[in-house]
Amino acid sequence: MSTPRVGSLAVQSSRYLCYYRNTSDSIQQIYLSNQPTWQRVVFPGQQLLFHGDATADLIISSEQGVRCCPCESLRIEEKGRSVPEPTEPVSSLCPYCGVGCGLEAVPQGKGSYKIRGDRQHPSSQGMVCVKGATILEALDRDRLAYPLWRERLDQPFTVISWDEAMTRLVERIEWVRRQQGADAICMYGSGQFQTEDYYVAQKLLKGCLGTNNFDANSRLCMSSAVSAYMASFGADGPPCCYDDLEATDCAFLIGTNTAECHPIVFNRLRNHHKRDRRVKLIVVDPRRTPTAEVADLHLAIRPGTDIDLLHGIGHLLLQWGQIDAEFIEECTEGFAEYVKLLAAYTPEWVAERCGIAQGDLEQAARYWGHAQAVLSLWSMGINQSAEGTAKARCLINLHLLTGQIGRPGSGPFSLTGQPNAMGGREAGGLSHLLPGYRQVTNPQHRQEVEDFWGLPRGQISDRPGRTAWQIVEGLERGEVGLLWIAATNPAVSFPHLERAKAAFLKSPFTVYQDAYFPTETAAYAHLILPAAQWSEKTGVMTNSERRVTLAPAFRSPPGVARADWEIFAEVGRRLGYERLFNFADAAAVYAEFVQLTAGRPCDQSGLSHERLARLGALQWPCPAGTSDEEARKPKRLYTDWRFHTPDQRARFCLAHSQGVAEPTDDIYSFTLTTGRLYGHWHTQTRTGRIAKIQKMHPDPFVEMHPDDAANLHLKDGDWVEVRSRRGQVCLPVILTKAIRPGTLFVPMHWGFLFADSGEANQLTHPIACPVSQQPELKACAVQVLPLKLRQTPYTPTVQESGIALKQ
Ligand code: SF4
Repeated sequence: MSTPRVGSLAVQSSRYLCYYRNTSDSIQQIYLSNQPTWQRVVFPGQQLLFHGDATADLIISSEQGVRCCPCESLRIEEKGRSVPEPTEPVSSLCPYCGVGCGLEAVPQGKGSYKIRGDRQHPSSQGMVCVKGATILEALDRDRLAYPLWRERLDQPFTVISWDEAMTRLVERIEWVRRQQGADAICMYGSGQFQTEDYYVAQKLLKGCLGTNNFDANSRLCMSSAVSAYMASFGADGPPCCYDDLEATDCAFLIGTNTAECHPIVFNRLRNHHKRDRRVKLIVVDPRRTPTAEVADLHLAIRPGTDIDLLHGIGHLLLQWGQIDAEFIEECTEGFAEYVKLLAAYTPEWVAERCGIAQGDLEQAARYWGHAQAVLSLWSMGINQSAEGTAKARCLINLHLLTGQIGRPGSGPFSLTGQPNAMGGREAGGLSHLLPGYRQVTNPQHRQEVEDFWGLPRGQISDRPGRTAWQIVEGLERGEVGLLWIAATNPAVSFPHLERAKAAFLKSPFTVYQDAYFPTETAAYAHLILPAAQWSEKTGVMTNSERRVTLAPAFRSPPGVARADWEIFAEVGRRLGYERLFNFADAAAVYAEFVQLTAGRPCDQSGLSHERLARLGALQWPCPAGTSDEEARKPKRLYTDWRFHTPDQRARFCLAHSQGVAEPTDDIYSFTLTTGRLYGHWHTQTRTGRIAKIQKMHPDPFVEMHPDDAANLHLKDGDWVEVRSRRGQVCLPVILTKAIRPGTLFVPMHWGFLFADSGEANQLTHPIACPVSQQPELKACAVQVLPLKLRQTPYTPTVQESGIALKQ
């Protein structure tokens, strides 16, 4: 973009922060010449913050042309933390998805680095995808460097010191505790947290404050998998490891576009599949995704018929006698009832219900039944459902029926979306959990944690806290006096987005703690706290195969940003819990946490920062006393076929299919499914700022089958309004036979900062699985209205920051 220079702004040193305030009512683009990244100024009144160390020119472009805008500069006296520059390559892990690939940051001098895959990391063996490879580009763009404050959402932010920020926050916490009680305080955290962040947040909220209102974006991602493992096996924890990807002879992928969303897991599986023609790959997905493209068998079932399909396969395996009678007899409960349930799922009925050929259903059952080792993989397509727990458990049923668990190449393997969703589970990072795979409803578990923390018995509440969507409902009813959001962007990712945003506007006090500014959620915040992110703070993360990797700090955080756990610990100390939050460093936090895992299913009492630095990434269980040699071996759970239930037997699930929560009808005649694209990550706070990824996926779109397009007289590239009972978006159509007729696909990555009217979650609903409380983000009923021209389909009624959004 070539724009004449206008205005000049002196940025005299790194101790100065300059801010620009958009006083016009148009969207603008702006940059400083020493930080040449265009930034969008979306809201009238919105401020952009810059910090630099050289004289810079301010360059502004707007719809009204180019003009000189008033700028101010403000001196910041606080010093940030300085991290010494390493001279050797630093081993870390990719902070994007749950695959957890090893990365190496190779110093190039003067604070610059090259990123490459870490060949020593057992999970990824040197491989990385585009996100991991470009991570460095996102680290210095639009960083939040200083605390910001405003009394009301229609005011501009003011830069404040940490001391003032902490004082304001702690005073508010104490006031809300006195006025409304601790349950009026809610924290919504993130699978982007390191385990240390998760752990200190649990200690603060569930321990010291005595409220279980800590939930995380993992609720929207994999809480159904947690519930399913707990109900079927008596404890959470994926039983498999990535070595199983090369040991299986039948991979059954359901509700996972692994090629795009977990690319390095897929690379390993695909290479194995290519090398050995006997290996079968079955993919179940309404879309012919890149994953389905290479499958031996693609079952494009109707959305919401997963349980019917799984029971149909079970019916055939039982009918053909391809079951493991000894395993069933010795290791399971509920088989007789399961047999009765399967009787109704005849192949004819199932094929009709799922919209697939009966021969394909039988082929899937044959592949499963003939295999020596069956590995099933799943992710959001199963979890994000109003019957997500039942779906995952019905998949586990097939493993129990055939004894396909606890052996190389076999088992039900959920893939986590976020880099440390697993660590969150271990540290108790959902509103019904406590550290060490404990439950808040279990009196013994509460007592163990209270005793460990030195808190009085009864301090931890016996009631599960608010889940993600229950926080929204609490805001609507005025029951939340303080909302604290950290490392996540719910103003894009929540279902029924218009309702969620309206609820955020009702929050009397919202703290938003993040690494980036602006984000969509920042528009709803009163107090903004700058967080250090990957590369700037030390901590561990656990990937999908239960492998814990140390990610050390090797760069200085911008401005005065701090690690999330340091922020939580300071609040704890200021609330009077000095002794409980007096951690010397992140290693001390982790050392305390692992003691709470001793003797638990997720035992990592044999791990420490020092050991992980010395031996590299290690899997749990790793109890104290595990030798280095043992610690390095790949680990599977349930190799002795003894489970964590009271009688050590796994449980068959007896659920029938309910279908999608919002079926189609004559008015809303399409089923919309949402999902991710290869390059982008979630709400684009990082990837939206990386040129290469923006080029790959510049804009949102809706995929439609050509037969549906013909009925609506649409051609490729035409604009449509996609409308549900809750909201609407305006998107160009991409025609593809890769999607079932009657089904549409919209990627979930776009919020209002990166596109006009492309928010997929304007359409989705919050109806959730009754067990896991995970909303059904994967399916809702919509209609499609052709638009003559590209146009904005609606004027928002909800005020953003007290000011209507300019579309
Ligand atoms: S597959 Fe996931 S963890 Fe691996 S490099 Fe890509 S985004 Fe990162």
